[in-house]
Amino acid sequence: MNRYVEEVIAYVKDKYADQKEFVQTVEEVFTSIAPVIDRHPEYEKADLLKRMVEPERFFRFRVVWSDDEGKINTNVGWRCQFNGAIGPYKGGLRFKKNVNESIIKFLGFEQTFKNSLTGLPIGGAKGGSDFDPAGKSDGEIMRFCQSFMSALYRYIGPDIDVPAGDIGVGGREIGYLYGQYRHLKGTFENGVLTGKGLSYGGSLIRPEATGYGAIYYLEEVLKANNDTLEGKKIAVSGYGNVSWGIMKKAAQLGAKVTYMSGSQGYIHDEEGICSDEKLNFILALRESNSKNIKSYAEKFGCEFVENAKFWGVDDVDIYMPAATQNEVDLEDARKIVKAGIKYYLEVSNMPTTAEAIDYLRNNGVIVAPSKAVNAGGVGVSALEMAQNSQRLIWTAAEVDERLKVMMQDIYRKSVDAAARYGLGYDLIAGANIAGFEKVAQAMMEQGIF
Ligand code: NDP
Repeated sequence: MNRYVEEVIAYVKDKYADQKEFVQTVEEVFTSIAPVIDRHPEYEKADLLKRMVEPERFFRFRVVWSDDEGKINTNVGWRCQFNGAIGPYKGGLRFKKNVNESIIKFLGFEQTFKNSLTGLPIGGAKGGSDFDPAGKSDGEIMRFCQSFMSALYRYIGPDIDVPAGDIGVGGREIGYLYGQYRHLKGTFENGVLTGKGLSYGGSLIRPEATGYGAIYYLEEVLKANNDTLEGKKIAVSGYGNVSWGIMKKAAQLGAKVTYMSGSQGYIHDEEGICSDEKLNFILALRESNSKNIKSYAEKFGCEFVENAKFWGVDDVDIYMPAATQNEVDLEDARKIVKAGIKYYLEVSNMPTTAEAIDYLRNNGVIVAPSKAVNAGGVGVSALEMAQNSQRLIWTAAEVDERLKVMMQDIYRKSVDAAARYGLGYDLIAGANIAGFEKVAQAMMEQGIF
């Protein structure tokens, strides 16, 4: 591998030894782009890679809120404005108990290249809090969001940094966050956040976009392998926003999701999670935050397996992990290979450990990276920004069509980039290279800082 790339990876491993998610993602991205550095010695002269691993700005703030009993609670909030070379910082906010600096940083780093891959002018960012929304009342969520935004509003804006949702941050939270921003700023700058409700500038199809985009990407993978979606069965982890979008679009295009999971166990529904009734049930279940996935099995009369994961089931064609990070380890990967699965598309951010990815690939499974597969979400967020700045609303069909074209373009760019560097059909390296090239060029053209 390129000596400069090796040096920077070693530097990151040493300097950020305690940030394992961040180290893993830097190693994955930079290993992929080593052939680009070979061809561009000027990048080493500009010390481009070391500059890329440092966020342009990363701040931490106190978030204080009172619960329904009047007790005062203190959480930590973060915003990492990782790279703004190609557009305003853009990336989600995650509210989850286990959130820490390493997770925010790895997500912000990934986001930089993912956003670049969409072809739209958006830089990379991520933020969040160690606040746990589970079991909180609506009033508690509102007070938390208001306090969070009171600390953040000075540092964001439609041309500065545009946060969005992520785990634990959906339409309701975005509404409270935007309400507080508007209250504090006194202007209707709705382009400051995406994932908004339709009544105040949200985009049609945004809630479905990540899942829909993943299915459009899957269609391209299948096409390249002389295959189609028709009749395919899919196992999806999670039953959150993203998984729901996957289920919906798969059903529209003649495939079906037959497995889904939550942190309490998994569901096997051989008929497929396809009807509006089932899809609406999942939506309501997710919104209730109850984690009671078992209630789906009770309502629709299918199998629920408690405290278990479905990795290794062999009665599906495609696996799409779409819940959280590091949900598939080496042992799971062995089971997936043994089950004879041909397609494995990552949808959640970094769902697979590095050893598990290697094992899957070395054993003939076609692996597509989350950076590309889930990019439709942020892509439609950028379309939301475009609609807000023009003060207009596109129809659902228009947004869906743009999303489809965007996903086809992401797939094509990834395949082409890997081919240009002699790497064959490598969707992971291709996505990393295609995302990296644009950011690198913009940084070079903007001078050293
Ligand atoms: P949600 O919070 O809506 O859903 C997360 C789901 O994952 C829940 O169903 C949860 O179930 C489940 N889950 C959590 N931990 C586990 C576990 N250990 N095993 C099985 N299931 C688990 O999140 P989203 O659907 O919005 O996001 C999912 C992933 O996709 C995240 O990695 C996110 O970063 C990524 N992503 C999301 C985008 C978006 O547009 N929303 C865009 C790009 C990426 P339970 O409630 O039972 O814990």
